[in-house]
Amino acid sequence: MNTGRGRRIMTRRLAAAGALALAAGASHGADRPNVVLIYADDIGYGDLSCYGAVKVKTPHCDRLAAAGVRFTDAHTVASVCTPSRYALMTGEYAFRKKGTGIASGIEGLLIHTNRTTLASMLKGAGYATGVVGKWHLGLGTNPTDYNAPIRPGPREIGFDSAWILPATGDRVPCVWVENDRVVNLDPADPIRLDYSIRRGDPGSFVNGIPRIGGQTGGTAALWKDDEMSLVIAQKGCEFIEKSKGAPFFLFLATHNIHVPRVPNPRFKGTSECGVRGDAIVEFDWIVGQVLDKLDALGLAGTTMVVLSSDNGGVNDNNGPDAAHGIGDPDGTNGHPPNGPLRGTKGSVWEGGTRVPFIVRWPAKVKPGVSGALVSQVDLLASLAALTGQAIPAGQAPDSRDHLAALLGTDATGRETLLEQSNGGAPFGFRHGPWKLLPRGDGKKGGGGPALFNLADDLGETNNLAAAQPERVAAMTAELAAITGQTAAPAADAKAPGKAERRKRR
Ligand code: CA
Repeated sequence: MNTGRGRRIMTRRLAAAGALALAAGASHGADRPNVVLIYADDIGYGDLSCYGAVKVKTPHCDRLAAAGVRFTDAHTVASVCTPSRYALMTGEYAFRKKGTGIASGIEGLLIHTNRTTLASMLKGAGYATGVVGKWHLGLGTNPTDYNAPIRPGPREIGFDSAWILPATGDRVPCVWVENDRVVNLDPADPIRLDYSIRRGDPGSFVNGIPRIGGQTGGTAALWKDDEMSLVIAQKGCEFIEKSKGAPFFLFLATHNIHVPRVPNPRFKGTSECGVRGDAIVEFDWIVGQVLDKLDALGLAGTTMVVLSSDNGGVNDNNGPDAAHGIGDPDGTNGHPPNGPLRGTKGSVWEGGTRVPFIVRWPAKVKPGVSGALVSQVDLLASLAALTGQAIPAGQAPDSRDHLAALLGTDATGRETLLEQSNGGAPFGFRHGPWKLLPRGDGKKGGGGPALFNLADDLGETNNLAAAQPERVAAMTAELAAITGQTAAPAADAKAPGKAERRKRR
């Protein structure tokens, strides 16, 4: 190789190797942006003013959208909290793992510690990783003992630090957990939980608000409901401040706007659609706090901010809350939580899983609007591609690299997409603009498959299944190939689903 040609080749190889080395150790901010994932709870497709809301204004979300890509066809995996979060974190459809329906406050950690997660993958890429806010993925082992170190938890699946509320605001325990300890717990006043107590029963009241389950003890550790958002904003900003010197990943999961909706008094009356709207304004305020912090630290340009929600919106009348003076059942003033979409949280209509989704990364992402079909299950593989991380065999089995769609350069995204309900079926299934509901359109007596063309029927009103049996068959087969379950449409056509049977009782 000691010839002129050989030296030239060697020089080129060295240059290439140098370029590779540079890429591998890419400077912070170029190919390894900080990642702040702001994950709202129960905010629907129509709940932000950048998505068409009129009776509630969300200027901070809107400024994020104006500087990033705003997606119009982005989805959670499921239409309720726990399975959406499970799929987001693991890159695996939640229906594949038993027990990933809505978790109680004493459920053990639902993600096995040997799994690759969004957090562990980014930690492997050299990121400082933190979670602040609503967890709802189980903690410790069932039934969780909150009076001892709570392990395993977020720190066993990739987060360096955690400041979380264990389940939901309407479930006990009503305490903050920092890393593996309940904050301000007095050992002389241990926490005792009773999940046989139902929401609204006399024993279910904590801080005057009915919860799912009862809590006694842990009095000094009780959170203050109307300060929850202030605490989440503050802890999120503290994490950013503390981590600013190295690439960081913050999973900021707000409690807003899940019930009980108890916004801080400063937000009372800030929307024209009642307490639910005020809780959206409060969510927007949290977003503003985070954006301001990034601006103040000079990190806005080198930080990818992803904003989304864990499922669609619902006009909850707050159930027992309303009966006890919390919430405002009549104050929604005609505001549509899911905009033009049909269905709500808990359904596999588009309103159950199609949610706001915004990606801002000024260094790389050109502002715009994208109609690409996007699923949250793909964040893991896409961010692994961005940061040059390999996903171990067998991990994140349903996550695909759609980084180009997330960065706004691929206008198509996924070809197909699965939507699931709570524990699994019923499913919804998308192939481009086509939407299949194997178990029908929910109309009384209409249990057969339903097919809609969202390109001209976004509200899923015109069932084309009878007119297009071949497309129904093809999409049914595609879905079955993913789930391993046959939809059994013939049986469904005659027998109402469980929910329908319950209603009839
Ligand atoms: Ca939720």
